[in-house]
Amino acid sequence: MPAFDVVIKNGTVVDGTGRPGRRADVGIVGDRVAAVGDLSGPDVSAATVIDATGKVVCPGFIDTHVHSDLMLLAEPAHEAALRQGVTTEILGQDGLSYAPLSAENLQAYRRYLAGLNGNPDLACTWSTVAEFRACFDRTVAVNTAYLVPHGAIRLEAVGFRDVPLVGEALERARRLLAQGLEEGAVGFSTGLSYYPCSWADTDELVELCRVAARYDRPYVTHLRTVFRAGRFDPVEEALEIGRRSGVKVHFSHFRTGPLTAGQVEQITAPIDRAKAAGVDCTLETYPYPTGSSQGVMFLPPWAHDGGPDALLARLRDPEARRRLVKEIDYTYLGSARGTRGWDEIVFSHLPKNADLVGLTFAEAATRRGKEVPELLCDLLLEEEFRVGFWGLPPEPDLWEQIDRDIMTLLARPDYMVGSDGIWVGQRPHPRAYGCFARILGPLRRKYRVPLELLINRMTAVPAARFGLRDRGVLAPGKFADLVVFDPETISDTSTYENPRSFAVGVGWVLVNGRVALADGQPTGILAGRPVP
Ligand SMILES: [Zn+2]
Repeated sequence: MPAFDVVIKNGTVVDGTGRPGRRADVGIVGDRVAAVGDLSGPDVSAATVIDATGKVVCPGFIDTHVHSDLMLLAEPAHEAALRQGVTTEILGQDGLSYAPLSAENLQAYRRYLAGLNGNPDLACTWSTVAEFRACFDRTVAVNTAYLVPHGAIRLEAVGFRDVPLVGEALERARRLLAQGLEEGAVGFSTGLSYYPCSWADTDELVELCRVAARYDRPYVTHLRTVFRAGRFDPVEEALEIGRRSGVKVHFSHFRTGPLTAGQVEQITAPIDRAKAAGVDCTLETYPYPTGSSQGVMFLPPWAHDGGPDALLARLRDPEARRRLVKEIDYTYLGSARGTRGWDEIVFSHLPKNADLVGLTFAEAATRRGKEVPELLCDLLLEEEFRVGFWGLPPEPDLWEQIDRDIMTLLARPDYMVGSDGIWVGQRPHPRAYGCFARILGPLRRKYRVPLELLINRMTAVPAARFGLRDRGVLAPGKFADLVVFDPETISDTSTYENPRSFAVGVGWVLVNGRVALADGQPTGILAGRPVP
């Protein structure tokens, strides 16, 4: 007689492929799905039975872009993600992560990126990609995949320096990238708003992407916002890299914004042209009209040269500081994303200056009796880079148009979902706690997009793109990463004003067959593994 560890009974199974949901039971043995069908017979036994009457049962969601690289190790229960049904996260985003790195470069990069990733005390130590990935083996609640970050391999090859990556140094970077991919990374990432990534030119990225192409792994790009040799189109740069290197291109957080609301066709036209000409492209988004990042990005390129100690010294030195103040510029954020000034950027993370959190940069400067650039220098120095922000959302009609655009984008079969979650700060961007539930709940119900389609974009599509073996589809033989949720009530509750508020409507989450969320409550079981 069939004996299962877990049986999920009477739910509507939406298997991730996009096929219509159907009534079925799901039987699990160990870490895999063993049966899908009618398991109501008297000969069926199970140690745990979950009643999913009226609920949807589907593969766990894959967050294709999230900044959990350190905070997941520091806070491994990861309740905010589990309560949205996330079972796998892809780390190493925007070129900003921590392996491969020497001990010295690791320390420097942890300090420098503290505004985005935090810099918590951690028990685990690592240097290689394999060692870093091993830190996430059954020590955290969700599975993790990893992208080799451009920033780390550039640090290892030439240091924290604004120098071209050519010759022997380029060869070293290419070897490190290849080694990371050999050690299980699922792609290569860059963030051309951040350092040292932004110091790269297109040729450097083509050379590195040739390595990723050899391994048939995607190039994941946060498009360029830092220009020095003239302006050019960042989308065209990414497509050129795809054309010249043969790499598969994946666009991070690609959507309309306050300045491009309603222009879905215009923003996707160049990508569709390139696809028609043979460049393999995919994209991802989160369902909010504005973004979030770290304050250090507003400093000009020369300020970062030499790394965090050199930057702190410049912030202290009166002459360097005068020049900094003149050159600090909100357009490093990328004007195309719709930020038109300091009065549209809000502090989210300032451990020592909590009274400024929630104020726009302009309001905070007034409160301190300074200009914004002076204030930013003060804060970066005093907080040692622990400065985070998000963009103020636009007026309701514009916001609604961007919501509509996002649902139109998600209807494309080449789209997936990435929260871009940032976990540090007193008032982080609401996307970390709300991304998946907001799409499946309020936005799906309002714009009447089929559930099967949206689940497909959160499961099978990213699993195929990033080569996550036996995940993303609910079928016998696949890993039992599963979610049981109520399609009528699933909803985000996090807002820009109150972002650390859990999603509702997700009842059960299984990670590798283990129950991580039971009846809406985390169990504390840490069954996540490095994948694939
Ligand atoms: Zn990001």
